Amino acid sequence: MAFTLPDLPYSHDALAPHIDARTMEIHHGKHHAGYTSKLNAAIAGTELEGKKIEEILANVSKHGAGVRNNGGGFYNHSLFWSVMSPDGGGEPSERMNIHKAIVRDFGSFEAFKDAFATAAKTQFGSGWAWLCVDKDDKLSVCGTPNQDNPLMDVVECNGTPILGLDVWEHAYYLNYQNRRPDYVEAFFNVINWQAVSTRYNDANDGASSF
Ligand code: MN
Repeated sequence: MAFTLPDLPYSHDALAPHIDARTMEIHHGKHHAGYTSKLNAAIAGTELEGKKIEEILANVSKHGAGVRNNGGGFYNHSLFWSVMSPDGGGEPSERMNIHKAIVRDFGSFEAFKDAFATAAKTQFGSGWAWLCVDKDDKLSVCGTPNQDNPLMDVVECNGTPILGLDVWEHAYYLNYQNRRPDYVEAFFNVINWQAVSTRYNDANDGASSF
């Protein structure tokens, strides 16, 4: 069974002005589509066909660069679209478990936001910033290069990503040029905390996300 490019859960222009329509068109329709088709080509006819993406990434050290880069690219972008919404932004509701966990593990929402934004702004070159949950439901923030993510056995920070921010230049350059910090700040206006909350609640249930 091949992996499928997920549809965007909103229109290309839905996240504007924070993320512009042209960037979304190219990012989803070209970049994410490319990672998906190249992942399928990399696993075709191998033992990886039919495996969950999480399982492939957890053992990625055993496979080639094509699986690492395109498997990561497929998973990371699938997560990215799902944790944004035109109705997003603000802070998670106090009724959500994710709110309690953020306060417990970072001290406050502002402290979490600072940690996440710093990871995104200081990731050198192309990569991602992550909010992850470990096996004990504890939260942490980290950054990874290229299309790596914390599910991979080759990555130092480990856990299940429940929020990710793409800081490759292809994610923001058309609208923000070199101003990555402005893009990072704008991202907080579109975070879908309901989706992040659901991912937090389900992180250790063993189900596949995509
Ligand atoms: Mn990207």
